[in-house]
Amino acid sequence: MDKEPPGHSIEGRKGIGPQRAKLFSRIGIHTIQDALYYLPSRYEDRAALKKISEIRPGGIETVQGKIVFANVIHTRMRRFRIFEIALNDGTGFLKVKWFNQPYLQKSLPVGREVVLSGIVKDSGQAALEMDSPEYEIVSDDTDSFIHTKRIVPVYRITGGISQKQFRKIMFGIVNEYASELHDPVPPSIIEKHNLPALARSILQLHFPDKGMSLDSLNSGMSIYHRRLSFDELFLFELGLAALKRRTSLNKGIAFTPEGTLRKKLLKSLPFELTNAQKSTLADIREDMRSPYPMNRLIQGDVGCGKTVVALLAMLDAVESGYQAALMAPTEILAGQHYINISGLVKGLGLKVGLLTGASRGGQPEGIASGETDVVIGTHALIQGGVKFKKLGLAVIDEQHKFGVLQRALLRKKGLTPDLLVMTATPIPRSLALTLYGDLDCSVIDELPPDRKKVLTKFFEADRKKEIYGLLRAEIEKGRQAYVVYPAIEESEKTDLKNAVQGKEGFERIFPEYRVGLLHGRMSTAEREKVMLSFKQGEIDILVSTTVIEVGLDVPGATIMLVVHAERFGLAQLHQLRGRVGRGTHRSLCILVAYKPYGEEAGRRLDIMLRSTDGFRIAEEDLDIRGPGEFLGTRQAGMPDLKVANIVRDMKILEKAKAEAFGLIETSPELREFPSLKKTVEVFWKGKKDLFRTG
Ligand code: ADP
Ligand code: MG
Repeated sequence: MDKEPPGHSIEGRKGIGPQRAKLFSRIGIHTIQDALYYLPSRYEDRAALKKISEIRPGGIETVQGKIVFANVIHTRMRRFRIFEIALNDGTGFLKVKWFNQPYLQKSLPVGREVVLSGIVKDSGQAALEMDSPEYEIVSDDTDSFIHTKRIVPVYRITGGISQKQFRKIMFGIVNEYASELHDPVPPSIIEKHNLPALARSILQLHFPDKGMSLDSLNSGMSIYHRRLSFDELFLFELGLAALKRRTSLNKGIAFTPEGTLRKKLLKSLPFELTNAQKSTLADIREDMRSPYPMNRLIQGDVGCGKTVVALLAMLDAVESGYQAALMAPTEILAGQHYINISGLVKGLGLKVGLLTGASRGGQPEGIASGETDVVIGTHALIQGGVKFKKLGLAVIDEQHKFGVLQRALLRKKGLTPDLLVMTATPIPRSLALTLYGDLDCSVIDELPPDRKKVLTKFFEADRKKEIYGLLRAEIEKGRQAYVVYPAIEESEKTDLKNAVQGKEGFERIFPEYRVGLLHGRMSTAEREKVMLSFKQGEIDILVSTTVIEVGLDVPGATIMLVVHAERFGLAQLHQLRGRVGRGTHRSLCILVAYKPYGEEAGRRLDIMLRSTDGFRIAEEDLDIRGPGEFLGTRQAGMPDLKVANIVRDMKILEKAKAEAFGLIETSPELREFPSLKKTVEVFWKGKKDLFRTG
């Protein structure tokens, strides 16, 4: 390999001046390598050459023939100039038109042999017609067609360049440079999985051989797609494996709790832990006693009781002489945890502190001095200024809002604190495997026995009377209600029902009840006040937006109305529904939908009516939205997958994962694979310290 160009700039390659280079950079192509990996978004089959006598209107066809007539026609007022030709292939004539491209007459004179590919239409005359087809000139030295007579790639392009120009440039680059690409995957792995060579894969993905199946290409499931998916997932998993190894190298804390605090708390609880809670706690305690840092995920549906498990772990840390921190994704949730936990540990002699963006005036001294044992907070906890005296255990609630990087930041706050991540959004196994590949996992797959299934009902919005009747029936039993709206207040942008007007409406309909309002534009203090009074039973109907999505725990609330349920995502609906059914009473969730709504919304509502199992719902959600969107908000700090699709490519993922973790085990810092190592680091941009030890 004497030229090493794939990493070089695209500018200066054939057909790419500074202007073009700018266009290319707009779609993310800066280097030759970027171009090689810029795969077609779809393919068209223009391989089958047809006789003009065989083609029919409506189809996309490819024909070859001689130009027997060519002329530029000026329409009246000179608005249009139409370049028109007639093509003959010995079986018939085809009329062809291009609009406002008079310069074509230079390249397409009478007598020239061309291949055309385009939509056939009826001209109203004897000959059929094609408008603005793609053309390719046949000459003695044409040995490879680019735009016709083959399976043709279609790229996602930007304005300022035509598909044909782009394709031609790609053809040049791919043919010149694909073979120069360095293959990052060790040969033994390629061989073991029978993967096609990288250069061949790139070539075939851009300009496939005639015999390839169009379907497999267009569905991203050709062997060449699978090869690139493997590479991508392999790099992804190598990053996770390296991260996991790095953290396990750190000397962690071997906690040595006597368990007095834990036992005291357990005794004071009005319930027994479920078996799933017990076994999860056992996992955690084992991790904590070991001298390696814990890195564990707790997955469990809403209401399964994760918080109390985390709290028990925090007590172990405190008893061993360390501080514990709990990080929540929102201030309202942090506040809620603070209130709850303060209440639970009353009498245990602990100091609990709250640190959020709203607690201005810097951090409470107690954190730095070590006086505060348990610190609850938001992102504010990982901000630069915050110093802990002796952070031993960090708990992150609602993992999906934080990424790998935030976890790393929080970790830096302690010596090497043990890390516990909790998520209430059940994640299908396929996703958990990629997303949390660097974490150990415990699942709480059991709800406390006193829980009644939430009964879910569906109403069109015009059945107000029945809906209000159900609401009234609950409140008359002394229970409370949530009413959730998708918007805070009236706006010009939407005609959605909103919380502010909704509250006024409920006050009018139920003058005898106390109606409260909760939304994200209220100050933290205001919101906390409202939540607290709802919790204490001073509010009968709490009208709110999705700020109650996670965490709010009010056992007396037994009915929830979701207004515009058709507007909410599945995960969100499931989370919302989890706010009721937290006590011992039977609870109701009423989904109120406004017509018209699409088929997808209908599917979501249907699933909500059929299932209360978070894992089931998550699988369906993934199925409806596809992994990209499903992951969207959860992927902070994770590299993008361009070719691979972790649902479709689940099998490949499992192989890639096994190979990656195996390789890191035998070659922890990839010393024997320097270029692979570099590729992984580039893939995990900005995480250069993936492999650094300590
Ligand atoms: P989540 O997993 O959604 O965070 P929480 O930890 O908020 O759930 O628990 C939900 C409610 O269930 C809380 O009121 C909590 O005190 C209660 N709870 C937790 N564990 C049990 C249990 N084993 N039996 C009965 N109630 C429990
Ligand atoms: Mg929780």
